[in-house]
Amino acid sequence: MPEYAIGVDLGGTNLRAAAIDREGRFIDKISGSTDLAEGRDAVIDDIVRNIVTLRDRLGPAGLRGVGIGVPGFIELEKGMIVGSHNLPGFDNFPVRDEIGRRLGSAVILENDANAAALGEKWMGAGQGVDDLVLLTLGTGIGGGIISRGRILHGFVGMAGELGHLTVVPNGNPCGCGNRGCVEKHASATAIEAMAKLVALGDNLTAKDVYDLAVGGDHLAKRVFESMGTALGTALAILVNVFNFPLYLLSGGALPAWDFFAPAMFAEVEARSFTYRVTKTRIEKASLGNEAGLYGAACLPFHLS
Ligand SMILES: [Zn+2]
Repeated sequence: MPEYAIGVDLGGTNLRAAAIDREGRFIDKISGSTDLAEGRDAVIDDIVRNIVTLRDRLGPAGLRGVGIGVPGFIELEKGMIVGSHNLPGFDNFPVRDEIGRRLGSAVILENDANAAALGEKWMGAGQGVDDLVLLTLGTGIGGGIISRGRILHGFVGMAGELGHLTVVPNGNPCGCGNRGCVEKHASATAIEAMAKLVALGDNLTAKDVYDLAVGGDHLAKRVFESMGTALGTALAILVNVFNFPLYLLSGGALPAWDFFAPAMFAEVEARSFTYRVTKTRIEKASLGNEAGLYGAACLPFHLS
């Protein structure tokens, strides 16, 4: 019986669980939706049921542990979610211990972007690199920092909230209380807001703006340039702080790489001496949506 771990990716929309072995091979997977309308306890029931289903299929003897990636700020020591706009009702609930109690086995709770960064380091574009940053470009922007092969947690577990780096001091207000966070200037939500602002059209999705750019629309291209500039400003800060060799970008915005990347690289080049004089790489991540599952499953193995 092979040894395996179960990784869970709990999102505001999707709930997925995968059994992965120590070599990073996918063994089994369950995908479903997160039924937030049914309330927190129903979501926890679903998580436990998915884990038990995988454990029953593969045999409990080989299960090394369970890792769960969740969106939002977490308190690592307590195994709690402290502030999650995507998971109403979970704040300050002992989610790790409750799931662990019902499973009768140890559970590790982790921020989803941190888990994704670890996943990329383990089996994705960060293989063989011990120091890297991942930025996930979606509705918001998440971040994860891997230092010496391990997730950088800070003293509470809230390190790596890179979407809230200030890139425009008096920029757009953010739910976190700050203004001009990079996620307010470079996320899918920001793309949609900018499209409205430059009168491309009301109610355009980020995908609509992308399609317009592909069709040659000048204003749509400008929107992505603006996104690239904001991203480059954030990346320059990260390069200056960490001097890591690798910065990975993932998420739904990656297909627009050719539209935002030139402005992004120009901005990092202009703002970071370290970037100009080193062989720092800024590249696409490779695991897509699976990164968080890999990372969550990697946690119980304690590979580094
Ligand atoms: Zn913010």
